[in-house]
Amino acid sequence: MSNGPDSLLERNRRFAATDARAHVPPPVLPTCRTYLITCIDPRVDPAAVLGVGLGDALVARCAGGRVTDDVVRDLAWIHHLHGHLTPDGDRFEVVVMHHTECGAALFADDAVRDAFAARTGADGDALARLAVTDPERTVALDVDAVLAAPGIPTGTTVSGWVYDTGTGLVTVAVPTRTRAGS
Ligand SMILES: [Zn+2]
Repeated sequence: MSNGPDSLLERNRRFAATDARAHVPPPVLPTCRTYLITCIDPRVDPAAVLGVGLGDALVARCAGGRVTDDVVRDLAWIHHLHGHLTPDGDRFEVVVMHHTECGAALFADDAVRDAFAARTGADGDALARLAVTDPERTVALDVDAVLAAPGIPTGTTVSGWVYDTGTGLVTVAVPTRTRAGS
């Protein structure tokens, strides 16, 4: 049998044969009340590392799990939808999780970054700021970024976690902080 995407379609057929879909919460009321922002690295898949199951969390994944403008826009959009669709429901909490041995560390490598900037036309300095060489430091920066971002409601709580790919353990690098009123 194929090891590629076809093998995932095969797994989907097994999933579709179950009744798991009948037990999910509304789209912006995840069971674990969590909006998780983390890296696309397959080794840090929240389904495995945190046991996130169907309907448990909103999960945004991008290179390094960095809080970019696109990530902020989606988060603000989901907050907006929450207010529109389920204003009386429990509000979700935001968690940013970075990890050790992150491929986004290579944004700090001048040769790799410059070649990528040339290929894509992206701004080299902006790419350099995405580097994850010290996940405890970058996750703290990104908690700050969420707390300061436009469109995020007062009272939103944000924390920063670091996953250690060596031990498999997640530690809380930034305990929960709350967005102040404007
Ligand atoms: Zn990564």
